[in-house]
Amino acid sequence: MKTKVLIAGAGIGGLTAALALLKEGFDVEVVEQARELKEVGAGLQLSANGVRALYRLGLEEALSAVASQPRGKEIRLWNTGQAWKLFDLGAESLQQYGYPYLTLYRADLHRVLVEAVRKEKPDAIRLGTRVVDVRYQDSGVALYLDDGGTLCGDVLVGADGVHSVVRAQLIATDRPSFSGCVAWRGVIPAAELPARLREPVGVNWVGPGAHVIHYPLRNGELVNFVGIVERDDWQVESWTEPGSVEECQRDFAGWHEDVQTLIRSVKTPFKWALMVREPIPNWTVGRVTLLGDAAHPTLPFLAQGAVMAIEDAYVLARCLARHPDRAAEALQLYQQARLDRTARIVRGSTDNARRFHNPALAHAEGAAEYVSREWSEPRVRERYGWLFEYNVDAVVA
Ligand SMILES: Cc1cc2nc3c(=O)[nH]c(=O)nc-3n(C[C@H](O)[C@H](O)[C@H](O)COP(=O)(O)OP(=O)(O)OC[C@H]3O[C@@H](n4cnc5c(N)ncnc54)[C@H](O)[C@@H]3O)c2cc1C
Repeated sequence: MKTKVLIAGAGIGGLTAALALLKEGFDVEVVEQARELKEVGAGLQLSANGVRALYRLGLEEALSAVASQPRGKEIRLWNTGQAWKLFDLGAESLQQYGYPYLTLYRADLHRVLVEAVRKEKPDAIRLGTRVVDVRYQDSGVALYLDDGGTLCGDVLVGADGVHSVVRAQLIATDRPSFSGCVAWRGVIPAAELPARLREPVGVNWVGPGAHVIHYPLRNGELVNFVGIVERDDWQVESWTEPGSVEECQRDFAGWHEDVQTLIRSVKTPFKWALMVREPIPNWTVGRVTLLGDAAHPTLPFLAQGAVMAIEDAYVLARCLARHPDRAAEALQLYQQARLDRTARIVRGSTDNARRFHNPALAHAEGAAEYVSREWSEPRVRERYGWLFEYNVDAVVA
C-alpha cells in the first residue's frame, strides 16, 4: 500500500508538495476550502532557487509560456525618479545560478501547478472543503472537515497559509504584531501604460516611509504593482480586501509621475495589512508538519514567501522519499533542513523594511549617497547571493 499524504490547502506550497510527492510515488489528497481554484490577482517574483525546484518537477515548458523574464532590477528614487542598477537578471541569473529569475501572475502559476497535479492524479484536489480539526496518533492522522466528513492518512502537511488551522490546533499559537505597513496590490494591462513602464525590468522605488515595486507578468502582457506604505489605521490581513485608487493615491502623494500613472491604471487596488511574526523553533509533531506561510510567514520584502513554500515542498518530498517507512523521522529531517534558512529569510525581510523606507531617502542629496551605499554591488551580493544559489537537491544527502 502506498503511503497516503493529506495536504491542507491548495495554495502554491500545497500544490507544489502534492506534485513533488505524487512524482515520488506517494498517494496524495489535497483539501482546499475555496470552491473554485481561482487565484487572486497579483504577481510573484520567483528567483532562481525557486525556479530550480519547479523546473526539476517538469514545469519548465509550462512556466516559460506564461512567465516574464526581466533583464534586471533597478532602484528608483521616489521623487526625482533617479535610477540605479540593483542587479542584472536574464542571462546573468542563468549563468550564476543555472536557472532564470521569473515574474508570474499568481493565477498562471496556480493553473500550471493544478494541471500538473491533476495529470498525475485527476482527483487529487478536493475543493469547497474546509479543515476544521486535526488529530494524530503514532499510526496515522485524521482531518475533520466542515461537511462532517473525516479523512485518514499516514502523514499530514499543513499548507493552509498564514491563518493555518493545522498550526493553531497542533503546533503553536499565532502571535502576530502589526508591522505598521500596508501593502497595495494591483495588476495593470501593459497596453494601458507608456512604453517606459513596460520595460522588461523589475523596478523598486524607495522613499521615506514607503516603497513601490512593479514588474512585467505574462510575457509582458500585464504589469504588477505593489505599493507598501507606513500607516497604522488598517490591520486586516487578507488577499481580498479592496481599497480605492483615491486612497492609494493619497498614500503616495508627492511621488514621481510614473508612480502616479501606475496607480491611476490599477482598476481595483487591494490592500493587505502586513503582520510580523517571529520564526517558530518547531513546526512538526509526530506525523504532522507545516510548510510555506503556515510554518514561517514573512514580510514580503525579500520576495521569498512563495519561493520558500516551493523549496519546503520539494525538500519535504525528498525527505519522505528517503524514509517512506519512517514518516515521523522524515518530517524531522525536513524541518532540520529548513529551519535556519527560513528563519534567516523572515528576519532579513524585516530588515529590508527599514532599508527601503529609510528617512535618509527624503532629500535627493542624502538619498543618492544612501542608495549608492546600501545597494552597492558587494552589499547586494551579500543580501541576495545566498538566497539565489540554494540548491534544493543538495540539502538532504
Ligand atoms: C504584497 C505581497 C507580495 C508578495 N510577493 C511575493 C513575491 O514576489 N515572491 C514570493 O515568493 N512571495 C511573495 N509573497 C508571499 C507569498 O504570496 C506567500 O508567501 C505564498 O502565497 C505562501 O504560499 P502558501 O501556499 O504557503 O500559502 P497560501 O498561498 O496562502 O495558500 C494557502 C491555501 O490554503 C487554503 N486554506 C486555508 N485554510 C484552510 C482550511 N482550514 N481548510 C482548507 N484549505 C485552507 C487557502 O484557501 C489557500 O488556498 C508576497 C506576499 C504579499 C502579501
